[in-house]
Amino acid sequence: MKLEEKVKATIKKYKLCNKKQKILVALSGGKDSTVVLYLLKKFGYNVEGIHIDLKIGKYSEKCLEKIKELCREQKIKLHLYDIKKEMGSGMCYIRTSIQSKNKKGQIKNCAICGVLKKWILNKCAKKIRGVDVIVTGHHLDDESQTFLMNIFKGSPKLSANSGPKTKNILNKKFVTRIKPLFYVAEKDILKYSKEKKLPINYAGCPCAIDSYRIQIREFMRNLSTKKKENLMKNFDDMSEKISKNKDSRMSYCDICGEPTRNKVCKKCQLMSVC
Ligand code: AMP
Ligand code: ZN
Repeated sequence: MKLEEKVKATIKKYKLCNKKQKILVALSGGKDSTVVLYLLKKFGYNVEGIHIDLKIGKYSEKCLEKIKELCREQKIKLHLYDIKKEMGSGMCYIRTSIQSKNKKGQIKNCAICGVLKKWILNKCAKKIRGVDVIVTGHHLDDESQTFLMNIFKGSPKLSANSGPKTKNILNKKFVTRIKPLFYVAEKDILKYSKEKKLPINYAGCPCAIDSYRIQIREFMRNLSTKKKENLMKNFDDMSEKISKNKDSRMSYCDICGEPTRNKVCKKCQLMSVC
C-alpha cells in the first residue's frame, strides 16, 4: 500500500482524528513530523504546529529554521515553546543536572528528553484554544524497536500505552496523542520527504546516544517491513489484554498538577533531583 493510503487507512481504522477537530502537530524539524504535518494538511485536516526549542546549539537553530519555512509554505500557525525562557536552561543543562544528581544510575538522554517533551506538549496543548489531539511523527521502526526493547527488558506491559492512539485515559487534563505514521516504515517516510522536497533537518539530534536503542536498531536493520508489521500485529493482539489488566485511573501530580498515574509525575520526579 502506498504511504498516503496507509496513513489514511490508519486514521480510519483507529479513528485517530476527524476534520472538525483542531489538531496540533508536534514538530521536531526532522522528516517524520514534517511528513505527518504535510499529509494531514493535504488531507484537509485543521492543523497547527508546535515546536519545543530545546536549545541544543546549531542543531536546534537548524530545526527551527526548517520548521518556520515549512509552516510558511503550508500556511500553518506555529506555536513555539522556548525551553530556556520557560524552564531557565537548555535541554543539555537540564539533562546533565538530572543525570549527575540521580543516584539510581544513569538515565538515558532520550528518556529524560522524552519525558520532558511529553509534559511540555500536554501543557501547551491545553493552553492553545480548542486543541483536540496532539500528533507525533512516531513510525513503524520507532514503535517496533520500542516494543522489542520492552520485551527484552521482560516488561511487555510497558507497551500497554503504546498504539496509534493513547487509550484508557479519560481525564480532561490529558490531551489525546495520536501517531498517524504508526504503520509506516522509516525508509518510506524518508523517500516521500525527498520526493516532496520538504524543508527538513536531516541531521539527527547530537544527544541521541541511547546505546540500547542503537543495538536494537542494528539487530532489526535487515528485517523487512512485513516482519516489522507482523511484530506490531502481536502488539495489537496483546495490547487489549495488557491494558485490561492495567489500572487506567489517573490522578494529578502533587507538584505540577498535570495528569499522572502516580502521586508525582515522571517529569517532576526527574526535576526534583536537580
Ligand atoms: P523523538 O522523541 O525525537 O524520536 O521524536 C518523536 C516525535 O516527537 C517527533 O516525531 C515529533 O512529533 C515529536 N518531537 C520531537 N522533538 C520535538 C520538539 N523539539 N518539539 C516538538 N515536537 C517534537
Ligand atoms: Zn508533575
